[in-house]
Amino acid sequence: MLLKNKVAVITGAASVRGLGFATAKLYAEQGAKVVIIDLNAEASRAAAASLGDEHLGLAANVSNELQVNAAIEQVLGKYGRIDILVNNAGITKDNLIMKMSEEEFDKVIEVNLKGAFNCMKHVSRIMLKQRSGHIINMSSVSGVMGNAGQVNYCASKAGIIGMTKSLARELGSRGITVNAIAPGFIETEMTDVLSEDVKENLLGSIPLKRMGQTKDIAETVAFLASDKAAYITGQTISVDGGMGM
Ligand code: NAP
Repeated sequence: MLLKNKVAVITGAASVRGLGFATAKLYAEQGAKVVIIDLNAEASRAAAASLGDEHLGLAANVSNELQVNAAIEQVLGKYGRIDILVNNAGITKDNLIMKMSEEEFDKVIEVNLKGAFNCMKHVSRIMLKQRSGHIINMSSVSGVMGNAGQVNYCASKAGIIGMTKSLARELGSRGITVNAIAPGFIETEMTDVLSEDVKENLLGSIPLKRMGQTKDIAETVAFLASDKAAYITGQTISVDGGMGM
């Protein structure tokens, strides 16, 4: 029970095959009260209910500050505190730069980067008062290495690493840790859409010669939210089978 009675907010966790839900499931098993925030209210409620009665599913678009604030207020109203924030919501809109529209660029930055900013801004205020908390941001191996066809996504995920370091410096004196995880090539709906050729190429670049499982990521997100990681802050932990080294 690494996370007994901790209140954890996880964004983008309603997709049951995704990294967020795998994290939510492990957190619940480790004793946390889990709040799932996702775009679709029904899907959020169903995902939270599948974990048990004490969990909560809410709707918010993370790129909309007012919606984020309203959701965070609901969490406070129900549980009175927030111990863990996992900024997991993310999207891709891949294209080569010559073909990438302004809308494709802006949308990815709005959700992946501004979405994490909005959540961190509102939750930081609460954690500062508590003088404790853990924030974990989902970056990507693409944000560390770059990836052709993903200038928007890589900019957002590299930006996450910069925001993580800056906020770790802002909040460290109050006992709050802020870290990022850079997952590699993980089996989810986001990677299902890749062609067999692309998948084979990617597998060739992974020293462990397999795709990662959602559980591989969830275990690291749980560790960073636990007292075992109390002296780790401002770091980006790669969980990628060696792909990004
Ligand atoms: P996923 O299965 O597509 O799940 C993402 C979730 O975020 C979905 O439930 C989605 O809702 C939700 N979402 C999208 N836009 C949102 C918004 N504006 N506000 C709130 N929620 C929103 O993705 P995943 O593969 O689990 O990835 C999770 C995170 O890990 C992402 O940040 C991703 O960039 C990162 N990551 C993934 C991999 C990988 O291999 N899968 C590798 C590196 C990093 P809808 O389904 O309703 O759109």
